[in-house]
Amino acid sequence: MITVLSGGTGSLKLVQGLLNLIKPEETTIVVNTADDFEWLGLYVSPDLDTSIYLLAGLLDENKFWGIKGDTFHFLNMIKRYGYEDWFSVGDRDLATHFHRTMLIKKGYTLTEATASLCHTLNIKVKILPMSNEKVSTFVKTEKGTFPFQEFWVKRKGKDKVLGVKFEGIKEAKPAPGVIESINKADGVIIGPSNPVTSIGPILGVPSIRETLEDVNVKKICISPIVSSEPISGPAGNLLRGIGVEVSSFGVASIYQGLIDEIFIDNCDEALTESIKTLGIKVFCTNIIMRNEEDKMNLAKLVIKRLGAEK
Ligand code: GDP
Repeated sequence: MITVLSGGTGSLKLVQGLLNLIKPEETTIVVNTADDFEWLGLYVSPDLDTSIYLLAGLLDENKFWGIKGDTFHFLNMIKRYGYEDWFSVGDRDLATHFHRTMLIKKGYTLTEATASLCHTLNIKVKILPMSNEKVSTFVKTEKGTFPFQEFWVKRKGKDKVLGVKFEGIKEAKPAPGVIESINKADGVIIGPSNPVTSIGPILGVPSIRETLEDVNVKKICISPIVSSEPISGPAGNLLRGIGVEVSSFGVASIYQGLIDEIFIDNCDEALTESIKTLGIKVFCTNIIMRNEEDKMNLAKLVIKRLGAEK
């Protein structure tokens, strides 16, 4: 079994590649839920939703969020009624948020609601939220402190970041199955996700980081940074905001003590020696997944380096 720690973009592209090589039943993804928020009274979990849509074959892969071919009649109508429309929710996407909210109202935990959605959509990969407790990301910027979605979607991530906090994280517990998925894995992958607001909260849930540190299995990270920029998203602004260099060295320094090896891009080969001083092995290759072939090639190398080929 392979366990992947994931946000909602880079790691999921890698999971697509991995699924050419390993059975879905032998794949677990532990997903960040610190971006979750309430939208018009509904429980929205952006990274879980993207994971579910991707693995159900429903994802709009051009945007890498939402359902392909979705319509926006509901959003347009509520805009006419005076509601804000900066968070785009399509009509079919709305059905997911509605259903999850109903399940939670009935007493399901987030883990149970996720499992139910996966069962209905015939998803065999185990998708686990990092925690069933509420954890909320706030980004402190020059213009004020904003909940993550407001910082990233409404304000387009433009404000200079000064810091990040995860409300509720100290009281959160790993969701059922998370610790076991790490302890029983044949290899653990920290996917190429945002180290600050996607992987950061997963590792911040008490005992997840410690379990990863202690587990006797190979742990590989794929850097989400090429040269001095992320491939997409606000990771650069966020890394700078927490005082970490925007490079694969900066990413490696966050995961020091946790990973055995980091995959960095060929163009960053010059960072190899400095990363090695952190006690982390370095593997240089193409880490940009532009198409299915890139995803598969990267996944093949990761499985090989994990020593988890069948
Ligand atoms: P979010 O929840 O949408 O922010 O998703 P993630 O945290 O999972 O993914 C965002 C990160 O994925 C960014 O930091 C990107 O640099 C990284 N990323 C996106 N595409 C790729 C890719 O093809 N290769 C690598 N190595 N990283 C990628």
